Order: sequence, then C-alpha cells, then structure tokens
Amino acid sequence: MSKRALISVSDKTGIVELAQKIHELGWEIISTGGTKASLDQAEIPNIAIDEVTGFPEMMDGRVKTLHPLIHGALLGRRDLPTHQEAMKEHGIQPIDLVVVNLYPFKETLLAGGNQAEMIEKIDIGGPSMLRSAAKNHAAVTVVCDPSDYEKVLTQLAENGETSLAFRQQLAAKVFRHTASYDALIAQYLTSEFPVEDEKPEKLTLTYELKQGMRYGENPQQSADFYESGLPTQYSIAQSQQLHGKALSYNNVRDADAALQIARDFDAPTVVALKHMNPCGIGTAADIEQAWDYAYEADPVSIFGGIIVLNREVNLATAQKMSKIFLEIIIAPSYSTEALEVLSKKKNIRLLTVDFSEKEHSKIEPLVTGVLGGLLVQNQDVITEHPEEWTTATKVSPTEDQMTALKFAWKAVKFVKSNGIIVTNSHQTLGVGPGQTNRVGSVKIALEAAAEKSPEMQENSVLGSDAFFPFADNIDEIAKAGIKAIVQPGGSVRDQEVIDACDKYGIAMVFTGLRHFRH
Ligand code: 5GP
Repeated sequence: MSKRALISVSDKTGIVELAQKIHELGWEIISTGGTKASLDQAEIPNIAIDEVTGFPEMMDGRVKTLHPLIHGALLGRRDLPTHQEAMKEHGIQPIDLVVVNLYPFKETLLAGGNQAEMIEKIDIGGPSMLRSAAKNHAAVTVVCDPSDYEKVLTQLAENGETSLAFRQQLAAKVFRHTASYDALIAQYLTSEFPVEDEKPEKLTLTYELKQGMRYGENPQQSADFYESGLPTQYSIAQSQQLHGKALSYNNVRDADAALQIARDFDAPTVVALKHMNPCGIGTAADIEQAWDYAYEADPVSIFGGIIVLNREVNLATAQKMSKIFLEIIIAPSYSTEALEVLSKKKNIRLLTVDFSEKEHSKIEPLVTGVLGGLLVQNQDVITEHPEEWTTATKVSPTEDQMTALKFAWKAVKFVKSNGIIVTNSHQTLGVGPGQTNRVGSVKIALEAAAEKSPEMQENSVLGSDAFFPFADNIDEIAKAGIKAIVQPGGSVRDQEVIDACDKYGIAMVFTGLRHFRH
C-alpha cells in the first residue's frame, strides 16, 4: 500500500510543485477543498478529504478534517500493537506526511478585517492536524513552513523517508508556530473584549523573530530582533531601508528613540540623536531650516548621529546632510534628487517609515528586559495642557518665553534622567542627560548652551524632567543668565526653589507632571 500525505494549505504558493514531486515519489495525496481545486487544475491525482472521512466538508469549511479517520491516522502509534489493532478495526489508514499552513489571521488583521471576518479566520482544523502530526513525530513528518518543502523532498527522494532528527525539528517548529498563532488570536480577542481594569498587554504579548543581528550592543554579545505580533507601522521594526548596510543593534535602539521624539512634533522638525539622547532638535517653517537648527544645536555631537526628519527630504537638505557623517536618516520620503545625493554615501543608512501611522503607534506597549523577567508599561504619551501650567514665581514668563518653555518641555521628556535641557523657541542649545544628581545635568546643559551664539541664546529657557530637589540648581541657572524655567514641581523644598527664583527674577512654571526616562 502506498504511503499517504495530507495537504491542506491556505497559502498555495509552491504547493503544485511540491504535490507533483510527492506524487512522483509514489505517495497518495489527500487534500481539502481549495487545495484540491489547485491540484486538480494541475492534474495531480489526489483524494478528496470527504472520500476519506465519509463526511462532507461542512459549515463553510469550519469542519473539514476534524474526524477520527484523519486524527487517528495522524496520532496512531506505529510501534504499539494496540494502536495498530485499533487502526485496523476502524479502517484507519496511516498518514505519514502532513503539509498545512493556516488561515491568514495576521494578514487579515493587518488588512483591517472586522470582527466577524477575524472570527472566521481562526483556523481550527489546521492547528489540530499540525499538533496531532507533531505529537506523533516519531512517525509523521509535519510541514508548516514552505521553506522546508525542498528539504523534505530531498530526504524522501534519497531515503524514502525523513530522518527522525529532522521530524523532531519540524515538530518543534510546529508548536512554535501554533503557539504564536494562538497567542495572536488571544491578543486580538483580549483587545476586542476587554475586562474592566485589566490592561490587555498584561495578558498577552506576541513577538515574532524578525531577523538575527550581527551582534548585540558589543561584538561579544549575540542578538536578535523581534517584532510585535501586531506591528505598528510607525516603528523601526516596520521601516523600509532604501540604502546602506543592515541596521545594528545599537542603530535599532537609537532609531526607535529618535522616532519617539519626532512623533511629538507636528511642524517641520529634525531630531538628531546620539546614544539614546537627543543632541539636537530643530523646528521651523520648512525642513531645511529645521535641519539647520538641529545641526547648529550641537555640530560636534551630531557626527555619526541618527537623524529623523518628519517631512520629505528635499535636495537642499540632502546636500547639507551629505556634508557630514551620519549613521542613519529616517524620513517619510525622499525626493528623487535627494535620494541620489545621499545614496552616493556608502556608509549611510536611508530609511522610510509611515508617518501617517504615528498616532496609532502610541498604543504599542513598551517592554524592557530585566534578568529573569520583563517589565511592560504603556508609553509616556499623555497630552500636555500648557494652559493649565501654574506660574510658581512672582514673575510670569513672557509670551516668547512661554513658546520656548513649551518647546523645552517637549524636548526634555526624551532626555535620560536626570534630564535638563536649555532651548530657545525652536532649537535645543544644551542637553544635560543622565547624571546621578540634577545639578550635574544642569551644569552640563548650561555649559553647552554657553558656547552658542548670542542670537541663539536670546530668550533661552531651561526645562527639567523632574523637580529640583535643592535650590543650588537655581544658583547655577541664574549665573548663566536664564530667565525662565519649566519643571513639574512637587519637591518638599519647592518653596526654597521658588524663593531662589524670585531672588534672581526668574519666571518658573510647574507642569504638575514628570517625565522620567531611565
Ligand atoms: P482549502 O483551501 O484546502 O479548502 O483549506 C485549507 C485550509 O483549511 C488550511 O489553512 C487548513 O489549515 C484549514 N483546515 C483544514 N481542515 C480544517 C477544519 O476541519 N476546520 C477548519 N476551520 N479549517 C481547516
């Protein structure tokens, strides 16, 4: 009796070629409705599933292969007499090869399927067959990934069967596949049917391997890049690379941080980032001017930087950017001439992301690894209400200062804590990131700002991501001649800090909200 294979695939790519070869190797092929139609058209002999089960496919395909004559054929142990007897008694003929790929749940979801469509895309019979066959991998070869077709055919052609080691690997792959398939369904249904007070991300998070990386943070570390099961388009994971070498681990993290900053600015804006901190942010009426502002903000640090522009890159901007070494440029698009100019540089990476999806990207949970676990939080994407900020000092900020304070507050949110920033109304002038005491960050930011031209420093203001614990910070700020501060407030020594500002005639507003970034 010839051996039997069962083929039931949603994605029919390569299936005719595969079936043809299986047939030539002398196997019988059983197939389900749509798959059968493809094989019939190619004139490959095959048996309809209902001929095997004696039951019609029914309920719009909900029930096709869910039958003891199929699952008995997959699960029956070939080495146990009792199983063999049961198979004989019930007329079950073994199936030794299963080729299944599942209803396209993820693809339908990404294409915007409604709830009724999504429910229909939950494959029941397919995963059941895959799991039955994978459990019985001692005898059954199970294929859920078209990239394995070739290897299966080679082994069958050479030995008439596959090796146990290969079947074991295929079985493990099946359970990885069905686990992530089900996890995505769980994630979708959890978000569709939320339980009050329970955050969906608390319950299910799915990730799929996107690509292996050459190495991690350092060459002695290995690393992989996973993408969310429900990927957001405005993300480095979904970016399109137009030019340059593959992204490194550090590139991915930096690009992600830069994209998060750029997301908060609607006017033409350029973000330059180094080592997870912004080194220059510029906002203007056009993107070329925004580049000039971001560049002048710190012409030293921007060397080797990651740049995000939130408008199309035009020729003039591309020419300016091409004069210095940059690691990555990300933008919604590039003009043909701009792309031509930038593509001449071998060592630059040019990417696009879908800026129309930037609001949607705010729902993606942020995952941080710790030894032995993960921390998950939602993003710091609260809508700011500057009209509700309170002036704590005797002097109020002028209108110009208020414009600068709003810019500073947006920018400081992305500086690593303790984070301090000095800005004017449209560009950063000094960034003080990540010091273990706040006055240290203040000194670094002020020192950088002091190097800038008097015009740039006109109306400069200072932002602090969290409250000032001591008034010593204000002494430093006053020495630098800065006249307006934005910070959350909320320290037990707020009054001392306010008194110090009043002494120097500095205006200080409280936002009531901190933006730690560790
Ligand atoms: P076809 O296009 O051949 O009609 O259907 C192939 C698809 O049906 C495959 O994706 C397979 O996973 C799925 N499938 C096979 N048997 C069953 C079943 O009994 N119920 C459901 N819901 N899907 C099945």
